[in-house]
Amino acid sequence: MGGPAGGPGVEPDSTAQTITRSDHVRARSTDAELHDYRAAFAVSRSAMALLGPDGTVLAANPALARLLGTEHERIAGAPIGALLGTDGDPHARGAFQDVLTGRRRRLRCTRRLARPDGSALRAEITLSRTGTRPLLLTVDDVGERDTLRRELRHLRMHDPVTRLPNRALFFERLSDACARAPQHGTGRIGLCYLDLDGFKAVNDTLGHRVGDELLAAVAGRLQRCAEPGGHLVARLGGDEFALLLRDSTGTGQATTLATAVLDALQAPFDIAGQRLAVSASIGVVEREAADTTPTGLMQAADTTLYWAKADGKGRWTLFDPERNAHLMTRQALSRTLRQAVERGEFVLDYQPLVALDTGELRGVEALVRWEHPHFGRLSPNRFIGLAEEDGSIVQLGRWVLAESCRQARAWQAAHPDSPLVVSVNVAVRQVWDSDLVADVAAILRETGLPPRLLQLELTESAVMGSAGRPLQALHALHEMGVRIAIDDFGTGYSNLAYMSRLPVSALKLDGSFVQGFRSAEHPNPADQTIVEALVDLAHRLGLTVTAECVESAEQAERLRRIGCDTGQGWHYSRPVGPAAISALLG
Ligand code: C2E
Ligand code: MG
Ligand code: MG
Repeated sequence: MGGPAGGPGVEPDSTAQTITRSDHVRARSTDAELHDYRAAFAVSRSAMALLGPDGTVLAANPALARLLGTEHERIAGAPIGALLGTDGDPHARGAFQDVLTGRRRRLRCTRRLARPDGSALRAEITLSRTGTRPLLLTVDDVGERDTLRRELRHLRMHDPVTRLPNRALFFERLSDACARAPQHGTGRIGLCYLDLDGFKAVNDTLGHRVGDELLAAVAGRLQRCAEPGGHLVARLGGDEFALLLRDSTGTGQATTLATAVLDALQAPFDIAGQRLAVSASIGVVEREAADTTPTGLMQAADTTLYWAKADGKGRWTLFDPERNAHLMTRQALSRTLRQAVERGEFVLDYQPLVALDTGELRGVEALVRWEHPHFGRLSPNRFIGLAEEDGSIVQLGRWVLAESCRQARAWQAAHPDSPLVVSVNVAVRQVWDSDLVADVAAILRETGLPPRLLQLELTESAVMGSAGRPLQALHALHEMGVRIAIDDFGTGYSNLAYMSRLPVSALKLDGSFVQGFRSAEHPNPADQTIVEALVDLAHRLGLTVTAECVESAEQAERLRRIGCDTGQGWHYSRPVGPAAISALLG
């Protein structure tokens, strides 16, 4: 070992001029410390050396010699470049020089170092200076650390059950593919997003062990499908897998892969002495990589997988932008529905109910429309279902009821001799989730409309099996003098005997019955017979019958002959604004 007194050459501060008592104590402890440092330097497992200002080794510890695979004696006095074998590398030379000359305080780099015996190691080298003292060089073997890191990363990025890349790695690869694809190969990207049908049942009945084994077996089959094309298979969690086509040649390639996967899952699995059959639903998305982001692609795949399930499972479904647009408007509508009621974006049209024998106007059905600021006028089929789902039907229904009654009262006041019944549709949730009876009573009171001029239309399914609340509501409304009609009769249970026990005044025969009356040359005799029997029975039970969707004079005539009381449909009038009804009355 070189350096003064064979030590590492760290000297006590020599700038002290006068030695005081406390300085003396400090000098003594510094001596002791120095001794300790030297000992630590010698026994340290970290490879270290002290370098002079020109970069030659002043002192090195045995650990450095061991690490570099050379003799301790050959190290002392060697220039750093020769020691680390970096002489041929101008970049490394320059960097060392910067620290040696004090332009830089510290340098850290990772290099591959060759040993005299021909073996090599990956080392992290640091060179640092502290004040005017010699420079400290440390060399660490990071090969093992790197291997460990790689192993850790592998563990972190793979699913232990199937040994497939996990969600994290999948998203890394997907982002990569989206970023690189525009400049590479076909520039397209494909994704099969797969979910096992009925996997939960396997897990729940046979246990997680069997479930895991099944997942691993499924993973094996998926991989065999993906291997020939070099596609990535990943487990995204639970029973969800993804197959990524990084250089997709088109939709056909992705759907062919999806078909192959479904085929591969056909044969049952033999697991833990059980024969298990599984199927899968797959959402397939294939597109130009430049047009998409990983999130965009995953969202599309998620939606498409949902369609595959909804379409009947055990199949693949290809992403359809139009179907998606429809879904998006559905979501957009559902988001704005509630405020739309408050903002008063709804209007009512009225469709005449006409006496089939005399042709007189007997009533009108109120039909709601949404004047949507972006989508224009929307028919109720677009939003009533949504309003029922999110509960805003209660508020909307209350508005429809109040507005219809106000309008009907105005007509009554203007034409006291030709009273018009206003027929208002009521959704099931209005009966269940609000106090319909109290609402109706309040509205009648406020508008002054006589109860007999209000009819409420409920569907058969809404009143079927009614007990408790709905039944009480029907009775209370009936006692109030309000008429109850069963809407779209014939599409549900068509249980007339049951209806007759409810306080119902009218049946509205569904349009599909009347359709059989369309052509005189080819009447549907079954329809005619059924309708005739229905009307007859209804009359005997004391109910009046309205036919919906009367589109021609011929249909009207036949319905009249059969004995229907009123008709409603385009033959008489489309649903129209209140002014048009006022004109009819005048
Ligand atoms: P609905 O009560 O059976 O109303 C009759 C539907 O048939 C109306 O459709 C009407 O425009 C249509 N229609 C009338 N005549 C003809 C015809 O001759 N031929 C054909 N093909 N169709 C005809 P709209 O206005 O689209 O209403 C659809 C449904 O929305 C209604 O069916 C009703 O169930 C519901 N609805 C409408 N307004 C409301 C409301 O205020 N509240 C609730 N809960 N539902 C409503
Ligand atoms: Mg109706
Ligand atoms: Mg109807």
